[in-house]
Amino acid sequence: MTVAVSDSTAPAPVATSPSAMTSAHATAPAMTPAASSQASITLGIETSCDETAAAVVKGGVEVLSSVVSSQISLHRKYGGVVPEVASRAHIEQLLPVIDMALHEAKITPQEIDVVAATAGPGLVGALLVGVSAAKALSLAWEVPFAAVNHLEGHIYAAFLEEPDIELPVVVLLVSGGHTMLVEMQDFGEYHLLGQTCDDAAGEAFDKVARLLDLGYPGGPEIDRLAARGNPEAVPFPRPMLRDGLDFSFSGLKTAVANYLRTRDTRKLSGQSDVTAANPPAATPATQGVTTADIAASFQQAVVDVLVAKTARAVQVSQSRQNTSVNCACLAGGVAANSALRVQFAEAMSDLGVRSFIPSRAMCTDNAAMIASAGWWQFQRQGSSELTAPVNPSWPLATAN
Ligand code: ADP
Ligand code: MG
Repeated sequence: MTVAVSDSTAPAPVATSPSAMTSAHATAPAMTPAASSQASITLGIETSCDETAAAVVKGGVEVLSSVVSSQISLHRKYGGVVPEVASRAHIEQLLPVIDMALHEAKITPQEIDVVAATAGPGLVGALLVGVSAAKALSLAWEVPFAAVNHLEGHIYAAFLEEPDIELPVVVLLVSGGHTMLVEMQDFGEYHLLGQTCDDAAGEAFDKVARLLDLGYPGGPEIDRLAARGNPEAVPFPRPMLRDGLDFSFSGLKTAVANYLRTRDTRKLSGQSDVTAANPPAATPATQGVTTADIAASFQQAVVDVLVAKTARAVQVSQSRQNTSVNCACLAGGVAANSALRVQFAEAMSDLGVRSFIPSRAMCTDNAAMIASAGWWQFQRQGSSELTAPVNPSWPLATAN
């Protein structure tokens, strides 16, 4: 199990700021004024899936520490997250991780003003570990508890590194469990523009990586391999590209599986002499195509759809009455993808819209984003009840 202090190792975040829109929208609300007036200290706790994380954040925007203990090595041999294994590892790791976060931040328990924890969506057993710990600390330290929505946390990751993002903002939230386009109208106010009808983008990366015999989690492996491949080698479909703001990735995953089957026709037709030394005969469509080419082609199909739909979402939001969207954010684990980061920034710049892409450490699961979302939530609506349940399928927003 590895423990990383993410704020000190994170690559710099990427921000673009086309000069065309800077002065035209100077009056849009920003996050800074309220944040700087109350510099209270929040302890954030994240245990929704396979990362045990704790962080200390000041005033909702200043990360004093962010510690992430990854369980990847535990789950790798199963090819995915095993819920019971995850819950047990959270129980073992959580208190040492909280201790480390306090130590790194040079903060004592007496200085904590709010304890925030992810209460959903996520694995129920895993969520229960973090939420129970947060409630116990809230009681013991006599400070408020904030039950935080994990998806809202991902959105606040962007604000942590760019507190002056103008609202409303269009967010492309892409993770292992979710793919959605959201218009954030104000703090705590979200309008769902589109979401996946089947697999999440991260899920597609993980499943295709398994088809290609790459490691777990698949997203970073495909990202690495794709850097050496030709994204135009295989014309994989771009599902629902011209069709609204919803997504579908399960057909793309099937297209990769079918492509691999076609490549291995000799094997399928019962020719048992296929070995590494005697590979299957290449068809014209598969000749010379490497695994890196397949990874790059699959990744490009996903990125094309995500970027095109975000551009459309910005235009839809801009055409809505009383809405002037001038900023778009990336959020969630898939936002760590190299091709997506570059092409998202380019597409938004072409639209004259400012884009913000959090550092990679802030894209994947961490507790700094939960502390930030919890602090802002506490400012708006006060403490959560200590009887608040965990909710494994807690939605961020409903379509209207
Ligand atoms: P969760 O879905 O539990 O909220 P994260 O937000 O941390 O978790 O996202 C994890 C997902 O992000 C996984 O599906 C993983 O494969 C994917 N991912 C992480 N890094 C990359 C990358 N560089 N390229 C593509 N996908 C990535
Ligand atoms: Mg996540």
